[in-house]
Amino acid sequence: MKSKSLTSKSIALAGLLSVSLGISASALESGNQETTRPNFIILFADDMGYGDMSIFGHPTINTPHLDKMGVEGQKWTSFYVAAPVCTPSRAGILTGRLPVRSGMCSDKRRVLFPNSNGGLPQSENTIARVLKGNGYQTAAIGKWHLGHKSPYLPTDHGFDSYYGIPYSNDMDKVEQTDHFTLAENERFQAYNVPLMRDTEIIERPTDQRTLTQRYTSEAVEKIKTMKDKPFFIYLAYSLPHIPLFRSEEFKNTSLAGIYGDVIEEIDWSVGQIMKILQDEGLAENTLVVFTSDNGPWHTFKTHGGSAGILRGAKGGTFEGGMREPTLFWWPGTIKSGVVRDMATTMDLLPTFCRLSGTQIPDDRVYDGYDISPLIIGTGKSKREVVFYYRGQKVFAVRKGDYKAHFITQNEYNSKTAHPITKPVLEIENSPVVHDPPLLYNVNVDPGERFNIAAEHPELITEFKEILETHLAGITPVENQLEK
Ligand code: MG
Repeated sequence: MKSKSLTSKSIALAGLLSVSLGISASALESGNQETTRPNFIILFADDMGYGDMSIFGHPTINTPHLDKMGVEGQKWTSFYVAAPVCTPSRAGILTGRLPVRSGMCSDKRRVLFPNSNGGLPQSENTIARVLKGNGYQTAAIGKWHLGHKSPYLPTDHGFDSYYGIPYSNDMDKVEQTDHFTLAENERFQAYNVPLMRDTEIIERPTDQRTLTQRYTSEAVEKIKTMKDKPFFIYLAYSLPHIPLFRSEEFKNTSLAGIYGDVIEEIDWSVGQIMKILQDEGLAENTLVVFTSDNGPWHTFKTHGGSAGILRGAKGGTFEGGMREPTLFWWPGTIKSGVVRDMATTMDLLPTFCRLSGTQIPDDRVYDGYDISPLIIGTGKSKREVVFYYRGQKVFAVRKGDYKAHFITQNEYNSKTAHPITKPVLEIENSPVVHDPPLLYNVNVDPGERFNIAAEHPELITEFKEILETHLAGITPVENQLEK
């Protein structure tokens, strides 16, 4: 395939990359970059916890394929999302920007609902749109949750195709029975969620029992049909978000119950994707990233996952809500091992641009950093700070070893807080402002159990300055979740 437009900037980036990746710069310049630029696949679970796979320490959930990803590739232990709930987290991963910059977070409605009228604005650039501008083929599969009407659908945002449920699998609930009973009875008809192909609804209600299998088949087919030119696939599993469904083959197969069955089917799916990449000879030219959109949903007890050693869960700004089990796989290029440096989903956009020689539009603020030096083992990321947003407010800030909580609040306004959270600090349903902020050393104390603010007044001053500077750089925009 001949190059149509190779800018001087992309040639320069290709030259830089050729040094670190072993790619021939002359091959890139002679027009063969269609086969040397890497493919990218993001595998994005929904509500999977930090402790929900074998390689992250779960004693009974069996995830051999994810484990293989981590052993052959990288296991990241301080990888964060942009928000502790679905919609803003997804806005963050796809735009490389904090959701507050796109209007995709709210203190009133935490996510988009079937009666919402807003969505990711057209003024935002997604990873898909940016890569497409550089000749990539793009496909979105699975949960979208960034607006289910045009012009907010995946095909409005740089994806050539879409196949999936456009919001959460527990929405459009038409039966009053509780989620546990409906899941145990495989009553998928209780959720009148649509399955879409591009902009059309092709099935309603979606038979969620075969959803993971069908998403997997779609991804495998896309890989086969797109293999001759660079591609980007965003596969966002609808599960293990409740209600839990799995196919016949995975029923009652896990020691960890129905939640374990669901995770083990996702693990199978990851294995299928790794296998097709290897069978088609694409594995060594494809970067695969696996992570989750937010922490486990503790409200749903055994139907929710586990944040492992971390405190907190989905919806909250303790580590369990936003630190995710993350794996990178790229045989032959990646430097295998455990990466303990901080990174976030927002780093993927600049990183993919760097690795593909794609120019990032420079007309806006990004909250992501190029982490390719960490992936290929040539250096560090420029990231020093992570902001923990709940809705439109910064609740906490991490810099290096330390994390300061300026505000805390119960994850889901429930007095039945998870037992991991409750005994240490009673978290109120209403936001509680802390001055001085609570301070934890999250490397020494990843469970955030011991407040050391009184011992570090100098750090309190520094964290206050970091927060003040950050907030001064946020410009208010139209809120999309309240429309
Ligand atoms: Mg989620």
